[in-house]
Amino acid sequence: MEKPIRRFQNFRWENTDLLAYKEEGSAPFKAITRQTLFCDPALHAELRYFDVSPGGYSTLERHEHMHAVLILRGTGTCLVGDQVYNIAANDLVTIPAWTWHQFRAEPVSHLGFLCMVNVDRDRPALPTVDELKALQSIPTVAAFLKGG
Ligand code: MN
Repeated sequence: MEKPIRRFQNFRWENTDLLAYKEEGSAPFKAITRQTLFCDPALHAELRYFDVSPGGYSTLERHEHMHAVLILRGTGTCLVGDQVYNIAANDLVTIPAWTWHQFRAEPVSHLGFLCMVNVDRDRPALPTVDELKALQSIPTVAAFLKGG
């Protein structure tokens, strides 16, 4: 049986693999790692920790399943729908179904966050050229996507 306690040190947890964010080349992302903290069939949920290095970002995507996010460290920005928000440690972020979202670390700060998802979930969809154009037509979103 797995030990009931896995100690934390420097944003790594004992006996927990440091994984690639997702398969390289499958979608745009930069400087982000994943640790799956809890993944037990009895929970029907997974809790993951993502660490975004300074200047890094998660994939701009949307999907049917929702995300429940707790920012654990650092500062950054996130896109939820067509709104951009500043985020910092201990903020909670809800990503509803079929809502565009992306997390970006600041140029000088890591951004670390917990993300809870259903075990049974659909694959993320990336924006089409037209969908990306529509997002970029909103000035605050365009600046966010450029990393501004
Ligand atoms: Mn997502």
